[in-house]
Amino acid sequence: MVVIGAGATGLPAAIVAREAGSSVILVEAQPHAGGHAILSGGNIPLGGGTSAQKKHGIHDTPDLVFQDLTDWSIVQPNGAPDYRYNDREIVRAFADNNVSTYDWLLAHGVTFADKAPDERGGVSIGNSVPREMHCVPLDWPLGQTGLPVDPAVRKTLSTGAGLMHPLIEQAKRAGVELLLEHRMTALHREAPASGRVTGIEVDHRGTRRTIRARKAVIIGSGGSTGNVNFRRMFDPRLTEEYCGLAGMPWSDQDASGEIAGMAVGAALWGTFNQTAEFGLNLTKAGLIGCQYGYRHLYWQQTSTVFERARATGLSVKDWQNVILVNMLGERFYDETGEQFVANNLNRVNPYVAGDWRNAQNITWSPNNFLNAALSGIGDGHNGGGPIWAIFDADAVAREKWTTEPPAVDPAHGFFFSANSLEELAARIRMKYQRVPMPPEKLAATVARYNSFVDRGEDTDFGKPKPLYKIAKAPFYAAWSTPVPHDTRAGLRINADCQVIDMQGEIIPGLYCGGESAGGFSQHGLARCVVQGLIAGRKAAAEVEAGVTYAAVAQRA
Ligand SMILES: Cc1cc2nc3c(=O)[nH]c(=O)nc-3n(C[C@H](O)[C@H](O)[C@H](O)COP(=O)(O)OP(=O)(O)OC[C@H]3O[C@@H](n4cnc5c(N)ncnc54)[C@H](O)[C@@H]3O)c2cc1C
Repeated sequence: MVVIGAGATGLPAAIVAREAGSSVILVEAQPHAGGHAILSGGNIPLGGGTSAQKKHGIHDTPDLVFQDLTDWSIVQPNGAPDYRYNDREIVRAFADNNVSTYDWLLAHGVTFADKAPDERGGVSIGNSVPREMHCVPLDWPLGQTGLPVDPAVRKTLSTGAGLMHPLIEQAKRAGVELLLEHRMTALHREAPASGRVTGIEVDHRGTRRTIRARKAVIIGSGGSTGNVNFRRMFDPRLTEEYCGLAGMPWSDQDASGEIAGMAVGAALWGTFNQTAEFGLNLTKAGLIGCQYGYRHLYWQQTSTVFERARATGLSVKDWQNVILVNMLGERFYDETGEQFVANNLNRVNPYVAGDWRNAQNITWSPNNFLNAALSGIGDGHNGGGPIWAIFDADAVAREKWTTEPPAVDPAHGFFFSANSLEELAARIRMKYQRVPMPPEKLAATVARYNSFVDRGEDTDFGKPKPLYKIAKAPFYAAWSTPVPHDTRAGLRINADCQVIDMQGEIIPGLYCGGESAGGFSQHGLARCVVQGLIAGRKAAAEVEAGVTYAAVAQRA
């Protein structure tokens, strides 16, 4: 069997299939295993009546998980529904496999924080009872630092390193053949739109190889939000400048699994969930002045990928310290505005499952920061263009920022400074700044903002009591452009994680799970691990197609 991607979906799939007696090749595009999962916060919502829930007196059942994750009546303050467009068959399979997945993780060396399940880190995980579990790192290193954590928090800090390092070890021990730097580039099927999937094509450092699969191929390649053309099928605004994908440069989400699946006839599924305005599909930058600005991923120089991350970024503690402007140097929204939210425990209160009043009890709040940032400059181009945080020397002092590399990345155009605002605007030249920022416009924007500080009122965008003028040189412009993150739409699968084609038929020998699979709108790890285990078990039970493994190296 061949599994694509050594992340939250692929590793469990590979281990469970190997343990069921299949020989397993796991191909991974990167020189390291773990995927986004190893960088993650390790918050994993597994409920349905786990031993952890029982120990802490929390009553949960698979039916309650299913009910929560298909509740049509839940909406966010901007009206977006978290669960309405979920495929019931897929969610049912998830709900029925929560408890066994939790037990499987425990049996495979994952340690959870010894405390009651809570709601911390949860995104679209249901409103009824606490389910969020937290993987702890013990002495494993974090991808973002390359180092183990402070011993004081080794059993309490929630992190994906605590989930993925044990699974990588288990895979090796079980005899999974892990091929790093092997990037799947295509799937092989007996005929273009019929017959079994028989293997994959990979690229290994410029050499093309064919790997045949006797039983099945499982796609666990982690989604599509890093592929500009693919993500624009869901939202035309998501053009090239959204280049700071959360989880990069550790691993990409380049839609390679989805594209290869579609090339052998697979359908997409649940596409609403990708454009929906809740959760983390798109996020506000939390680290500025660097390309990779996802707020919870703070790259350190000790990380093995820091050379590619290039800067740690400046963590914004208080958005009162900056203004945010578009390519033309114009403000567009209250800088303290936030990204979309998502359903979680107690977000709807009082909550009665499926009750029409749930939607009425939400306080309307349009939450449009991201939409304003993506609105563009009215010149007929898609995409909002770069967003720049503009601030002065006083803001640097208040935030205790360092304005030199490696905190910021001036060499690649993600950070600029100058002694006047006009000079600053003139210096902003980089790949995605497709029109020059008019210097007089930036100066006028700052002057107007400073007048709001004098008045104590932002009459343009309603920023709550603007506090600080931007007045003391040097002045700075730091990349603060929204960051793509989640994929919640992908290949159509059924309850067994078999991939389905455009005629609604199963594609024999092809499975998919995690962020590359569609139909299930939930952030993160739980659906990936659960679907990886389902796919691995079902694929291992397939009858061998009778082809033998052969790695045929050809010059690309
Ligand atoms: C910073 C951060 C924090 C997060 N925190 C949380 C959290 O606390 N809780 C939570 O539930 N979720 C969290 N998530 C999300 C979670 O990590 C992902 O949803 C999950 O890892 C996705 O699993 P996956 O198997 O689909 O993809 P991944 O885990 O990303 O694995 C996919 C793997 O496939 C490889 N790959 C891709 N294409 C190919 C190819 N063509 N050939 C071979 N290999 C390929 C990739 O290199 C990667 O290793 C977080 C994500 C990030 C980035």
